Amino acid sequence: MAHNLNDYDIFLNATQSFCHKCGNLEKLVDAHNVVKDNKVYIRKFCPECGESMVKISNDYSYYKLCDDYLKKPDLPERALTPVKYGCPYDCGVCPQHQNHPCLALFNITDECNMKCNICYYQAEPGLGNHRSINEIEQMLETLLKVESQPDLIQVTGGEPTTHPEIVKILKLLKKSPARHLMLNTNGIRIAEDDEFVDELIKLKGGFEVYLQFDSLKEETLKDIRARDMRDIRLKALEKLEKHNISTTIVVVVKKGLNDSEIPDIIEFARGYRCIRGIVFQPVQEAGRVIAEDDFRIDLSEIREIIIDDKKNPFEAEDLIPLPCDPHKIGVAYAAKQMKDGFAQLNPVTGKLPKEAIIEQRGTVTFEQDRDFVNMVVDTISLDTAFGEAIVKDKIKSKLFCCWPSFLSPKDMGYEHVFRIVIMEFSDIVNFDSTQIKRECNFMITPKRAIPFSTYNMGIKEEYQE
Ligand code: SF4
Ligand code: SF4
Repeated sequence: MAHNLNDYDIFLNATQSFCHKCGNLEKLVDAHNVVKDNKVYIRKFCPECGESMVKISNDYSYYKLCDDYLKKPDLPERALTPVKYGCPYDCGVCPQHQNHPCLALFNITDECNMKCNICYYQAEPGLGNHRSINEIEQMLETLLKVESQPDLIQVTGGEPTTHPEIVKILKLLKKSPARHLMLNTNGIRIAEDDEFVDELIKLKGGFEVYLQFDSLKEETLKDIRARDMRDIRLKALEKLEKHNISTTIVVVVKKGLNDSEIPDIIEFARGYRCIRGIVFQPVQEAGRVIAEDDFRIDLSEIREIIIDDKKNPFEAEDLIPLPCDPHKIGVAYAAKQMKDGFAQLNPVTGKLPKEAIIEQRGTVTFEQDRDFVNMVVDTISLDTAFGEAIVKDKIKSKLFCCWPSFLSPKDMGYEHVFRIVIMEFSDIVNFDSTQIKRECNFMITPKRAIPFSTYNMGIKEEYQE
């Protein structure tokens, strides 16, 4: 991770970061983004520890492409904190922030039925602290101040299914103005509790399970999760598949541990009708994780693995920067059709005009590519959760909140969409005070909407609430 390089090829820009050597989160240090051998580094200048350089992208060409995808920001409707100490000490959300919450996280408990080695919250059995319904209503109130019609609320923890009132909470949030609701879970309760699954079935339509997954291997799961979770994952997926409950599987990636499994995990996911996509998340330094040099991996490295994998159909042009936070989120969408129990994927992202994606002109027409139109119409149907949302919106649909709205081909629906997302968070090692202002994942507390990364870094503890 740290490269004691004194030379580089290109100076890109000046910014601010934290020194990961002394770990001082109370003082920002000056930093430069520089390029060396087609890789991008953040070069930090700490008055105490001296200079250090950290690789933040393995691929300068892609890093440059990210800047090409920058779009006009969708700002929060209202700031909740004043500019007082400066970024990132004013989270949030303060008037400096340049993105609205695409994803609003509601942490409803510190309790967990696992004790993962990589837990960002340091959750474990016995911690308790279940949030009351009243606190959750306050979180919703806070979110609606910032975003009156949120795209997505994710219920998280700790392990949210340990909360005694989890069903009540899900129902409450399902009725909120948010378009979609997600349950972030390790899958244990889904695997073991059929009555709970019955309740999830009732939430279908704008509801999705965000299932921790990580690996197909025993040893890797023991490394990441301190437990062999293979049986639990398979049992949970069996039930989700049986009831066709929309599911995204989530893979925390550690270099040298499970990065080589990425192609197999994509292949595995294609065997399930209920799996709408995969989120790959480079491990970050937070909670119980000390992200040492040898297992850090960046977004561009995961992207390279996916586009080099010849088993999946995604090419470089299909896995593109998400315009609202291009350096931190990469996405690929495909139209999906199950055939003999295996998803046939037709990548869509590379076929959409880049200008339309960036400018969000409101309507993207596909007339130029009749094959594409036919493919979309042939493969996507309206009888799904996403289809219902489309009908509700009359003419518009959104594959992802930051994607352009477009006139939906008649048969388009969520069940026939497969997406790959690479989502990289900031930590003390890769922190860049420019990029943090674009973060679109927010932790919602009863009084604040705090970018997920700064929340996890613990900056909040000193300056907020
Ligand atoms: S990260 Fe965003 S909300 Fe937090 S202080 Fe910086 S600009 Fe404000
Ligand atoms: S990562 Fe999730 S499942 Fe693991 S200990 Fe933390 S909250 Fe529990």
